Amino acid sequence: MLELKNIKKTYHVGDVETKALDDISVSFRKKEFVAILGTSGSGKTTCLNIIGGLDRYDSGDLIINGKSTKDFKDRDWDAYRNNSIGFIFQSYNLITHLSIVANVEMGMTLSGVSASEKHKRAMEALEKVGLKDHIHKKPNQLSGGQMQRVAIARALANDPDILLCDEPTGALDTSTSVQIMDLIKEVAGDKLVIMVTHNPQLAEKYADRIVSFQDGKIISDTNPYNEQEETREFSLKKTSMSFLTALKLSANNIRTKLGRTFLTSFASSIGIIGIAVILSLSVGFQMQIDKFEADTLQQMPIMITQQSMSMDAETMEKMSKEATKYKEYPDEQKIYVMDSMQETVMHTNKFTDEYLEYVDNIDKDLCKGMSYSRLVNLNMIRKDGDQYVPVTAGNMNFGSYPVSLKDEPNSFMEEHYDVLCGRMPENETELILLVDTKNRVNNTILKELGFDTDSTEEYSFDDIIGTEVKVIMNDDYYVTTEYGTYTFNTDYKAMYESENSITLTVAGIVRPKEDSPTSMVSDGGALAYSDALAQRVIDNAMDSEIVKAQEDSDVNVLSMETLDEETKNQTLAYLGGNATPFMIQLYPYDFETKDKMLEYLDDFNEGFEEDEQIIYTDMAGMVSSMSNGIMDGITLVLIAFAGTNLIVSLIMIAIITYTSVLERTKEIGILKALGARKKDITRVFDAETFILGVCSGLLGIIIAKLLTFPINSIIYAMTDLKSVAQLKVSHALILVGISTVLTILGGHIPARMAAKKDAVEALRSE
Ligand code: ADP
Ligand code: MG
Repeated sequence: MLELKNIKKTYHVGDVETKALDDISVSFRKKEFVAILGTSGSGKTTCLNIIGGLDRYDSGDLIINGKSTKDFKDRDWDAYRNNSIGFIFQSYNLITHLSIVANVEMGMTLSGVSASEKHKRAMEALEKVGLKDHIHKKPNQLSGGQMQRVAIARALANDPDILLCDEPTGALDTSTSVQIMDLIKEVAGDKLVIMVTHNPQLAEKYADRIVSFQDGKIISDTNPYNEQEETREFSLKKTSMSFLTALKLSANNIRTKLGRTFLTSFASSIGIIGIAVILSLSVGFQMQIDKFEADTLQQMPIMITQQSMSMDAETMEKMSKEATKYKEYPDEQKIYVMDSMQETVMHTNKFTDEYLEYVDNIDKDLCKGMSYSRLVNLNMIRKDGDQYVPVTAGNMNFGSYPVSLKDEPNSFMEEHYDVLCGRMPENETELILLVDTKNRVNNTILKELGFDTDSTEEYSFDDIIGTEVKVIMNDDYYVTTEYGTYTFNTDYKAMYESENSITLTVAGIVRPKEDSPTSMVSDGGALAYSDALAQRVIDNAMDSEIVKAQEDSDVNVLSMETLDEETKNQTLAYLGGNATPFMIQLYPYDFETKDKMLEYLDDFNEGFEEDEQIIYTDMAGMVSSMSNGIMDGITLVLIAFAGTNLIVSLIMIAIITYTSVLERTKEIGILKALGARKKDITRVFDAETFILGVCSGLLGIIIAKLLTFPINSIIYAMTDLKSVAQLKVSHALILVGISTVLTILGGHIPARMAAKKDAVEALRSE
């Protein structure tokens, strides 16, 4: 039973006030066909909308099943509209972008009926109204009468208790009107049908009861309800629409405006394209840098020298403070004292025997090769025909070659160098000539070895292999003068032939391999000896007269210059009186072992005061941290730029959703009339922006991917780097996600606005 008690409803448009319903009281039976008859503007539609829960009354009460609707919540009204009410409008109110079946199914969709059940019921309803053959058509392919049949089918499909028809034949010609009225009468079954009309004949012909309206008041009722009649009750259920349904609904709507959707997606994908391209470039460059680092940097040795720069954070800070302390081009007539920071920056590493042993004992699996540089000068003489000529080590780029810590000491050299002629050195008396990648050797080196470089431009390998020089021991090389000082022996022949001299032979010519790290390729080549040779010379020198004399003297025993502690140590080291190496270089296998190697070296420092610690130089680490920092910085700045694009897209999406809301106002009204909740309406638009977001994300990714091809060919032409720009799958996925979330965010506020729209207003809009 349905009762209206003293219902009043007033509309305000500006200052104009219209009393649409003025104290309406009427009761309806569970099953009857009532016609509400009245002239235009008498309040019929308003009354129907209030009965249908589409509109609210100002005062009075609507009582359903004896229960007042005063405390109805929104969801109660939604459920009521969905389950108990079927609306049939004068203007059909079908959703134009949905097929006929989908229109009929919509009410059930909202109440969460399963797909198959829904379809079955929709087909039954369509069959009843005689439209079985038109189910896949769109509403605009039908005649008015047919559209109204669809509306009837839609109203029936959910099997409501109350059928509300607002001028159902108002837009139809007479004969069609009759057909439609017959149909309504036929399908009415045991429902309460309330039909609004201004046509008295129609009311007479079809209705069991006629309620006449005038100026918002009931003026007559042919069969009023009387209290004694027994009443039966209507049933109420809850409604809900799934996100999937909302998606389908929006997908359909979007299909009707593909061009615009594409343009929108494209415009809002520009931000995504920007970020994707930047990310793929930065990933690519990072990969190039990593590759470069893997190629070269990881092969760069860790250097530990007696004199080292200490570049810790504290020193850096001090240096930057010093740099910014004074302004440029000052006007003051003053000069300022500058602290060169020499003291702060330079760090003296004291290589104790303990430390040298510690380094020597490094894990063989961490360190691929090790080389020592010592300050000791190798005194050398060569034989040229029957002449004896001194050889100056300083001209020969002379140094010791790195050795592997494993059983095969030459394996480090063999890994990085090709033997062009001869062999790798097998003992400490064998030298190797390192040529550069163009097989060149500095003329100074060749000259010292006795080759005439002025008249000849090239030598065969055989000319070089076997070349000999002799290392002369201190006691032969230096002699005392009558003043008790030392000087160089000039009897070269005697020195050369001395039994103490060591004969060095060039045993091999080697060249860096093609994939060898650039740090091992030095222009003009070098001559390399074994560190064992240096050690042997130093062992001998330790006991030599000149070293003993130098140890006891504060002046240079050769030049008579006065020495301080530092220069004395240097002189002694030069003479071989100090076994401590000047520099140790440790070659790691790769980045991982390098880290462990550095850990090992750091461990030694534990427990030492800062100035007692041993500081090493990790060039590779410095270079890579710098390059990584720069890359990160550039990427961040670029992404910030592209990010503003995203914000613009966001605003655009909001505007577009808003226009879509305006465009679909009617649809919102229809959905509400069918019992859609606010949530469902929001979902419909969220679903639309979701689709837009995914589309623009995907589009952006696809375009960005396509862009990487021309970008790569441009970069290749400019830098010779192959396929730098690379879009990572993870980045692509994240970007699509971001695009989706942002568009949903941008569209959500308009979607909420849509949900809040007044149903009656929405239905009135065109
Ligand atoms: P009927 O359906 O009998 O033609 P209505 O119920 O539509 O009449 O309207 C009753 C009165 O209320 C009319 O004067 C109409 O102009 C006014 N009215 C109806 N709906 C609105 C509205 N949404 N806003 C303002 N006035 C309205
Ligand atoms: Mg009306």
